[in-house]
Order: sequence, then C-alpha cells, then structure tokens
Amino acid sequence: MRDGLSADLIARVLGGAPKYTLAELEEKYPARDLPDGAFVTRFAPSPTGYMHIGGLYQALVDCKLAQQSGGVFMLRIEDTDTKREVADAVKIIEDSMHRFGLKYNNDEKYGPYYQSKRKDIYHSVAADLLARGLAYPCFLTAEDMEKIRENQKAAGFATGIYGEFARDRDISEEEIIRRLDAGQVPSIRLYSTGNPQQRIFCKDAVRGSIGFPENNEDIVLIKSNDGLPTYHFAHLCDDHFMRTTHVVRGEEWLPSFPLHIQLFRMMGWTPPMYIHTSTIDKIDSETGKQRKLSKRHDPEANVAYFLRDGWPTGAVLEYLGNIAASGYEEAKNKGQVKSIWEYPLRPKKIPISGALFDMKKLEWWAREFIATMPVDELVRHVREWANEYDLQWAARIGENPEYLKNILSIERDNPKRIRKDFITWHQTLDEVAYFWDDLFVQNTEYAFNTDLLRAFLETFDICDDKDSWWNKIVAIASGAGVKNGDVAMNLRVAVTGRTNTPDLYSIMQVMGADMVKSRIGDILK
Ligand code: GLU
Repeated sequence: MRDGLSADLIARVLGGAPKYTLAELEEKYPARDLPDGAFVTRFAPSPTGYMHIGGLYQALVDCKLAQQSGGVFMLRIEDTDTKREVADAVKIIEDSMHRFGLKYNNDEKYGPYYQSKRKDIYHSVAADLLARGLAYPCFLTAEDMEKIRENQKAAGFATGIYGEFARDRDISEEEIIRRLDAGQVPSIRLYSTGNPQQRIFCKDAVRGSIGFPENNEDIVLIKSNDGLPTYHFAHLCDDHFMRTTHVVRGEEWLPSFPLHIQLFRMMGWTPPMYIHTSTIDKIDSETGKQRKLSKRHDPEANVAYFLRDGWPTGAVLEYLGNIAASGYEEAKNKGQVKSIWEYPLRPKKIPISGALFDMKKLEWWAREFIATMPVDELVRHVREWANEYDLQWAARIGENPEYLKNILSIERDNPKRIRKDFITWHQTLDEVAYFWDDLFVQNTEYAFNTDLLRAFLETFDICDDKDSWWNKIVAIASGAGVKNGDVAMNLRVAVTGRTNTPDLYSIMQVMGADMVKSRIGDILK
C-alpha cells in the first residue's frame, strides 16, 4: 500500500473525475431480486469474428445453469481490445446464440453489456483504488518495460512489473503532476501487496479449493492507450455489478485466478463461484493423440462450419450438453427426458479435463435428432438451409415443396422403425437426390435382368395398393424362376440407381408413374 492520491489528482490521472462513488454504484446495480439458489451467469466473448465450439459449449453451460435455477443468463461483449473490428463480430456471436436457441436476458438495469460502454464504471472503481493507495498511475513505456524484461531475464528473475521492478509504484504526487504536465498518459496499475511465498486459496465449484502462490505483479487495470480496462479489472467490476453468481470460463484463466481473488478481496466484495471448464478436444487423426480443437487446423472448431454444413443445431447442442452432463444420453435413451433442457446439469459433474468432441458421435446424435422430428419441421429446416446455403437446391424444392415433404415422409410413420439415414440438412438432400431427374444417376455397374424389368412394366399400375404391387412382383419372380428379392432389387436399382433405399413401394408412389416408367424404360432401350 502507498499513500492515496488526492481527488484532484485522481481526476487528472483518469482524464476526468469519476462519475460515481462506490456507494452509488452499489445502489445503481443492487443485488438481484431472485429466488434463493438462482444462478446469474454470463457468456462473455471477445468479438473476434469467430465463434469457437468451446465458446458455444460454455454458453450452453451458462444458459442451462441459469434456466434450470430460475436465474438470469447474460451476453456480455468484451470489446476492450480497440484494435479489433467489432460490428460484424458481434453479429456472428448474436446470430450463433440465436440459431442454437441460447436465449439471454440482457436486462437494461444491469447494462450496458458492451465493455467499451462501461468506462464510467471502471474509472469509478479505479478511482477508489487510487484513493486508497491500492493502485497508482504508471508511466512506463513499452521500451522501458522491454528493458526491464531483458534485465530480469539476464539475471534469471521472473519477468513482469513487480516489487523493485515496478518503477512507479511509489511515485510522488509531484512527479505524477510533472509527468502529466509533460503530456505523458499513464496506465493504472494495481499496487500488489501479494507475497508469492504465501499461498492464496481459490475456490472452483468443480475443482474445489486450489492453492496458488499469491500474486505480486502490479498488473495493469486501466490501459494508457484507450483508458479501457484489462480483462482482469473488467471481470472484477462487471461480474460484481452485474451480480454474476457463477463465472463459467475456460481453464486458460486458471493462472490468473489468484489475481482475481486478490482483486475481489481488495474491494471487500464476495467473489462469484467459478467453474473453469475443460478445453474441447479431438483425437488427432495423424498422431492418434487427444488435443484441443484448433481454430487453425480443425474446421469443426468453428461454429459457422456446423451451420454451413447443415448440422441440426439442436443435435450439436444435445451433444455438447451430454459432454457437460454425461448422464443425459442414458436418460434420453430411456425416454426419461426429451431434450437437454429437461435434464439437470450438475455443476460439480462438469468435466474439468479432456472433454472430447467426436464428429462420429455427433453423427449419432444428429441421426437420432432428425429421426424423431416431425416431417414438417424436417422440411422446414431443410428448406431454410437450402435457401441460405444452396440456391440450386432451393430452386428445385421451391418448384414443388409438397414433393419434398412426400419424399421425407417415407418410412416416418412407424415409430418403431424410423429411418436413421439423415444426418445433416445438406446430406438429407443428397440422400434423396435421386428423386429429381437432373440429379439422378443411372447405375451402370449393376447387371440388370431386363426380362424382369420388362415384365414389371407390363402389369405396373401406380394405383395398385401395396399388396397388389407385391403380388405382381411375386408372380414375376415365380414365372422367371428367381427370388422375389431379385425382382425387387432390379426395380430398386433401376428407379433409384442404388441398392439400398427405404421402402420401394413408397418410393414409386412418391415418384409417380411417369418417372418410374421412364427410368425403367431407359434401361430397356
Ligand atoms: N472474454 C473472455 C474470453 O473470451 C471471457 C472469459 C470469461 O468468461 O470471463 O476468454
């Protein structure tokens, strides 16, 4: 601790008098009026123009914890890095949240929700620390710091601005005024009294109490270039005044955990409960080793990839939900719950290491998800996807939407035998592409028995019911001395180009007489 600065000097150092006292802030952002046990959570992405699947995972955990406890889930934009372009990046975040059905409630009372618009709050808290001698203006330049760093390295000391290396921590008021008069703009640093020889215990809801050496670095609270806070200081101010009860964030924040607890203690504020989540990993196809999903190397690290490819967002969410709450899959299979929103997420059971995101497993979730979806919903999703990502498909469907519905209705009426061949909206269309003449590809490999095909055409009547249709096939088979299945297979390959399809009778009914006849006719030519 040092002598606190006078109010006048604080105003000069911060480029303006603080707008609020701490008491005013407490009153402006009072404790929330929520039932006991309600979680207040927030997803706090930096707008980078990219939404990582790990971010979506955290947002889901946040959203679920709030939803299941009758609490509040917020979206906070951490845009304190002014070098970055923000507008589109925020749209990407908001759009992803919307598409994945993660609803947030940014109640005006606790806003604004852009950190760049909360300067008054940060400066007011910084003013309090400056007045109490727990923070100070620091005039070190980038070059000064580089020099300090080099010297520390050469001497084998830990790098950073701490203790004797924190040149300005005891700077006098006169010196501060002199530097300000000379036009120098300071950053505001923490006056750390931590001693790394001592341990500080930090509580994580899953990991329990973790001991760390105390922090002794005079970290920057307010940056000199734009007057905005660092992550650490913004986290302190925002999660206190937004009345966050649970901070869900990546394990990469564990090293700064002791600093954050130190800051909360200095303010005399109760820290939120923390949940540091595991990275989302994959098995590297080359090394066979588990590693973090990488923005650079793995397309599936990007949430946009799932949208573009037409993965059902609900299935991606179910799968992520099952990573967070591993009993969900079983409960769902047993029919105890229908969706992840019905299954309680226990904070203590959230995995803290090696959460694996496996595309093959996601496929399973997607198949199940689409299989149990009402056909109208399936059609709507497929059309929406096509309208956005594949205009040729959109045009094809647009000509006769009822046709697509009939196609996708095949084998959807028997709940015991629902087809599970659809995975994504895109793949669903590819899977049924043979229903369109411009996409149908004749199977040139199959050795057709043209006698069987000819015999079929002779008696084919689209008005036949399924039994009559089948009886005709049986008759053809016995007349030709082959198995019923041989006739059916010849027909199947002739009209679809494939050896494996859903119910052939239904396919023919949906295609209509002309298409069936012309496809068989083409082979007989
Ligand atoms: N903006 C931080 C990040 O993107 C947020 C971490 C947190 O949730 O506190 O990592």
